[in-house]
Amino acid sequence: MALGKTTTAALTGVRADIVTIEANIGPGLPGIHIVGLGDTAISEARDRIRTAVANSHLEWPKTKVVLSLSPASLPKSGSHFDLAMAMAILTAREGRPEVTSRLNSTLLLGEVGLDGGIHAVPGILPALLAAREHGYRCVVVPPGNAAEAAILPGTDILSAGTLRTAFEWAAGRGELPRVTSVGEITETPPQPDMADIAGQPEAKFAAEVAATGGHHMMLLGPPGSGKSMIAGRLPGLLPPLTESECIETTSVHSVAGHAFHGPVCRAPFIAPHHSVSRAALLGGGAGNPRPGAVSLAHHGVLFLDEASEIPAPVLDSLRTPLEDGVVQLVRSRREVRFPARFQLLLAANPCRCAAEEVHRCRCTPRQRATYLNNLSGPLRDRLDITVRTHSRGAVISTTGSEGSVTIAERVAAGRERARERWSRYGLGHLHNAVVDPHLLRRYFPADDAAMALLGAHLGDAEVSQRGVDRALKLAWTICDLEDADQPDLDHMARALELQGHAGLVGAV
Ligand SMILES: [Zn+2]
Repeated sequence: MALGKTTTAALTGVRADIVTIEANIGPGLPGIHIVGLGDTAISEARDRIRTAVANSHLEWPKTKVVLSLSPASLPKSGSHFDLAMAMAILTAREGRPEVTSRLNSTLLLGEVGLDGGIHAVPGILPALLAAREHGYRCVVVPPGNAAEAAILPGTDILSAGTLRTAFEWAAGRGELPRVTSVGEITETPPQPDMADIAGQPEAKFAAEVAATGGHHMMLLGPPGSGKSMIAGRLPGLLPPLTESECIETTSVHSVAGHAFHGPVCRAPFIAPHHSVSRAALLGGGAGNPRPGAVSLAHHGVLFLDEASEIPAPVLDSLRTPLEDGVVQLVRSRREVRFPARFQLLLAANPCRCAAEEVHRCRCTPRQRATYLNNLSGPLRDRLDITVRTHSRGAVISTTGSEGSVTIAERVAAGRERARERWSRYGLGHLHNAVVDPHLLRRYFPADDAAMALLGAHLGDAEVSQRGVDRALKLAWTICDLEDADQPDLDHMARALELQGHAGLVGAV
């Protein structure tokens, strides 16, 4: 009887847990038996591993092999277990204690190919975080994951291209190349710039306010009026992600299996097609589910163009992540959570005829009123800003209007002002959009003239109570942008305009 032991990690959403793999070679007919709640990919591993070992000119046990994955209660899924399973069998076969000494404090990650090569796998970053948390000093990763692994300091990362080199290293007969940190990645691809857009002053101002206060926004305008141009330039107005935000967001993209092009340091911009399914929006799939668009947009912007074409049940599924900042997917044996704190941006034609200007609309009042009915009340309540784009403004600017860098500086200053205010009152809030409306009304009203204006609108039944709350939040954001102490009449008038309240569209 011979025993081998290795360590790897199991993914649940963007969380990883340490998994120990033990291989026992004992009497019995040749074959591998795997115990410990593995999925199909793990069952299939037995054929992959056996072929890979043979093609690597390594010795395969001639009797029965039992592989035990523990903790047994933890569901395990994915092909990244291959390397650790193969190495457990090979070390058991070798049967010398010095073989295992290098493996004692090492995490092994990688899918083994039939030729013995080690292939890249999703979810490297969460696995590395788990390794660091549990005090593993060394992690062996496939060469295809080396760049991603290198962004996390504090762990020795070794890159193994083949099963054979990995085993020679474990046996103390060879070394594996150490992956050194790629350092600060300073070159980011050029971002689209607000300077490209001529005209559209209202929509550009709305984007600036949305970026400062973290407000969800809806852009209404005829086709070709620059809605998606403005939307695509919102991330360029947002500050770079903090280090922890960057790790969180990069982890989500890592679990999604996206090719690694450096850590996600800027607010991501995720724009699924209007035919997007509920599963693609929220995440899903067999095994360890993949994150959906709402999670890929974590700490960034989710842009839904042609929102009127998206079925109501799909749009409604956004409500929970908008409220809680997480998505919970229930699988047969467990609950998987993905972070999903994003800024929502919707765009739509103002009505079915998509007239260039409001007065040219040929729709009946009823058609206009029902056009955006797929947007349920609760979802609409979350849209602080509704702004109209005009077809005449959709010209690419060549003379250069104000650029994103200048606007982003104002945004950063406004956000800082809000952050200071809310932290002074012991509120951890970063954005005006998420401040409790009761608190705002009671302790942070606008000045008397501004509140009187708001009261007059409420009296006319033009604005609902929720509308009042939204207007007050927006007024605070405009006030922060202007470095003022309390929202005044002018701030409030502009806030009401941004709400799309001025009769832009009947339905919204
Ligand atoms: Zn119309």
